[in-house]
Amino acid sequence: MANMRRYANILITGTPGTGKTSICEKLLSSLHNYQYINVGEFAAERQLYIEYDHQLECHVLDEDAVVEQMRPIMEDDQGGIIVDFHGCDLFPEEWFDQVFVLRTSNTPLFDRLSDRGYSQKKLDTNVESEIFQVILDEAKQTFDEDIIVELNNDEPADLDANVNHILDYIECRNNRHYD
Ligand code: ADP
Ligand code: MN
Repeated sequence: MANMRRYANILITGTPGTGKTSICEKLLSSLHNYQYINVGEFAAERQLYIEYDHQLECHVLDEDAVVEQMRPIMEDDQGGIIVDFHGCDLFPEEWFDQVFVLRTSNTPLFDRLSDRGYSQKKLDTNVESEIFQVILDEAKQTFDEDIIVELNNDEPADLDANVNHILDYIECRNNRHYD
C-alpha cells in the first residue's frame, strides 16, 4: 500500500534521451536512505530478455520476470526507491507514490540521441514517439492522473529545476509520513 511506505517510491520515465538517468544521479546525491533501480541495467544484469528487436535495435525485456524480481524491493514497507525506465505500463500502479514523465522538444532530443550514435531509424522512432507523447499517454493509462507530473527537460536550467521539484515532493511527502 502506497501510504504504508516510510519513504516515497518514485518513477522517472520518458522517451530515451529525455534525461532520466541524469536527473536520477542528481537526486541520489541529495537523498539518503534512497535506492536506485535503472530497469534497463537491472534486466541486463539478470539477462531478463525475450528477444532482440531488430526494428528498434534493442532487447525486448521479459517484463513479467522483471516485475517479479523487482517486487520484493518495491513492495517493502521501507520504500525509498527511485526507478528509471523508458516505459511504465509493466509496473503495478501501487508501486509508486509519484510518477514523473520527462518531456523534451524535438531539436534537443534529436541532438542528444545523435550524440549517442543512434541510427537514423532509431532516432526517428524515438523522436516521433516523443512528439506523439507515447510515454505520457502510457503513464495516464497505467496510473492515477493525480500522481503523474509532466516535466519539461530541454536545457540545463530545466535539469536543476526538475531535480529541485522532485526533491521538494519527496521531502514533503516523507515528512508527512513521520507520524
Ligand atoms: P535518459 O536516461 O532519459 O536516456 P540521459 O540522462 O542519459 O537520458 O540524458 C541524455 C543526454 O541528455 C545526456 O547527454 C545528458 O547529459 C543530456 N541532458 C539531460 N538533461 C539535460 C538538460 N536538462 N539539458 C541539457 N542536456 C541534458
Ligand atoms: Mn538512461
